[in-house]
Amino acid sequence: MRVTTLAGGIGGARFIRGLQTYLQEAFNDVSITVIGNTGDDIWIHGLRVCPDLDTIMYTLGDGIDPERGWGRRDETFHAKEELQAYGVEPTWFGLGDRDIATHLVRTASLNAGYSLAEVTAALCQRWKPGVELLPMTNDRAETHVVVDSPDDPGKRIAIHFQEWWIKYRASLTAHDFAIIGIENATPAPGVLEAISEADVILLPPSNPVVSIGSILAVPGIQEALVSASAPIVGVSPIISGAPVRGMADACLTAKGIETSARAVALNYGARRSGGIVDGWLVDTSDARNVKEIEAAGIACRSVPLFMTDVPATAQMAEQAIDLARATEHAG
Ligand code: GDP
Ligand code: CA
Repeated sequence: MRVTTLAGGIGGARFIRGLQTYLQEAFNDVSITVIGNTGDDIWIHGLRVCPDLDTIMYTLGDGIDPERGWGRRDETFHAKEELQAYGVEPTWFGLGDRDIATHLVRTASLNAGYSLAEVTAALCQRWKPGVELLPMTNDRAETHVVVDSPDDPGKRIAIHFQEWWIKYRASLTAHDFAIIGIENATPAPGVLEAISEADVILLPPSNPVVSIGSILAVPGIQEALVSASAPIVGVSPIISGAPVRGMADACLTAKGIETSARAVALNYGARRSGGIVDGWLVDTSDARNVKEIEAAGIACRSVPLFMTDVPATAQMAEQAIDLARATEHAG
């Protein structure tokens, strides 16, 4: 069973952790490839930081801080405090001391000429996440957010996604998102093959705009999904009209998409009408939307979608795989 998933950070990582548990119980021969979002990546104090790749790597490699959901367990922030004492910006980014070691290794390797995919594979030799973790692209393509300047009223500026998300907690109204450099980005080696050769493709409950949306924006990836032979099933990150965690509603609103499990599914669209999903899971609290999603050509089921622990998440993953196989046989 070859499963390929796209993924952002926390939502993606937690889902894939459950997916691993389910697949290992249910199938003999399993391989998982994760195509990770790198639109969140940023240079901080001379270090290359890839928040979503690291969240996947630390979560699956058992190094994550389980409460925060990002960064290393048993973390300290002395370097951050020292930088703050020097008065150097940015001071809002949570750079942990243990985490800095990862960024130092990555930055040195990139500076030595290795690609991000090669560097990620090297970092994974330590963490052994049990999946093949591929960045969506080796190219620099960072998400920016168009906002009204907080300092210069009437003027619109584009700030880095991380500044908008962490410093402003997405409180500045986003007028648009721009992934600078994305037109010239190409999928990292192995990404298109992972899509074309998969038995099942899953979209975890990651942010539809700034996690999954950035991956789809890499030229070639959306097309590969549209024409993939494997069934594609997505899991809603929106439950009862709100994100389970974080500010995905602010991202959806900027894109003119209602914050609902239904609207996110319809925005991805049915594959039979040129979209990217064959199936969609909504939470039991959104069961009333199942019919309308099915009417749009997307097979839909309502099941519990809170990733409260690994066993609950493994059951979600089972439902996703089950729905994928059902759509395959139906269509
Ligand atoms: P990020 O890059 O760290 O923001 O993580 P992702 O983009 O991978 O995932 C963020 C999304 O995960 C948010 O929009 C949340 O609504 C969603 N999410 C978090 N926890 C849960 C959960 O328990 N169930 C579901 N269905 N979605 C969740
Ligand atoms: Ca992210």
